[in-house]
Amino acid sequence: VYPLAGKRVWVAGHTGMVGSALLRRLTAEGAQPLTVGRGAVDLRRQGDVEAWMLRERPQAVFVAAATVGGILANDTRPAEFLYDNLAIEANIIHGAHLAGVEKLMFLGSSCIYPRFADQPIVEDSLLTGAFEPTNQWYATAKVAGIKLCQAYRRQYGRDFIAVVPTNLYGPGDNFDLAASHVVPALIRKIQAAKAAGTGPVEVWGTGRPRREFLYVDDAADALVFLMERYSGEEIVNVGSGEDVSIAELTEMVAAAVGYDGGFHYAVEKPDGMPRKGLDASRCLTLGWRARTPLRDGLERTCVWWNARQSA
Ligand code: GDP
Repeated sequence: VYPLAGKRVWVAGHTGMVGSALLRRLTAEGAQPLTVGRGAVDLRRQGDVEAWMLRERPQAVFVAAATVGGILANDTRPAEFLYDNLAIEANIIHGAHLAGVEKLMFLGSSCIYPRFADQPIVEDSLLTGAFEPTNQWYATAKVAGIKLCQAYRRQYGRDFIAVVPTNLYGPGDNFDLAASHVVPALIRKIQAAKAAGTGPVEVWGTGRPRREFLYVDDAADALVFLMERYSGEEIVNVGSGEDVSIAELTEMVAAAVGYDGGFHYAVEKPDGMPRKGLDASRCLTLGWRARTPLRDGLERTCVWWNARQSA
């Protein structure tokens, strides 16, 4: 066990949805979270990152910093998704080695698994088939990050671990429609249509792909749990077991918002992976399970977005 209470813990990416949930969770845990703003340290610049880490000497690091986005952003900004993420993870992981960081957690993503992996996806299916083309750039960088953790463990004995969260959603998500994932996109579009009394709302693709969603505060809880209790080269999936079709998700968001103006499926837009539900047995065996049902998490996220709108 590696208790985080009292430790200097750097959350790289603290302004993002996952990073901010981690900050809340770590504060509750009695850790001493460290953060640094984008203006002071550009995580893509090796010199900046190494100088900051050697000065601040974090004991533990969560690599929650990444250039992220939904299916359209991934597909249309391939250079940023590949370069930014390779640079960020290489700089932080090598910097952690130089600075003697005791424990580091790298966050993967369920898009690292093959497009046609057996469902639910087990950790061992990594690199057994080709990536889904729409997110291959991000997936390539994330697989490299996982391999870096394994390599620094093998060559230098560093306790660097990698976990693979399923699709996350919740307060602090990106609601910019050009870059967002499906949950914030649907909440934003459906709330706007309800407020304006317009419809139908456009939903991308066929509505048939299936996704597993995990509420971000549950995810932060899992990450802290695994950071404290897991050590090893094997990656660990973090999921909720709640796998729904995009059409079902759309109905759930409509119910949460109280919208009944109908939907139009824009089938010329990409579907992406047909399914990507994770097998979370490894994590369950270690003793962690999700708590927040999708309906409750969606309602809380709607409330958060509403409050942001009127603020
Ligand atoms: P993915 O899990 O990497 O495919 O990322 P997304 O969360 O962006 O998309 C999940 C699924 O939701 C895909 O099949 C999208 O086509 C579908 N989807 C439906 N409407 C939207 C929307 O307005 N925005 C986004 N990002 N996805 C949408």
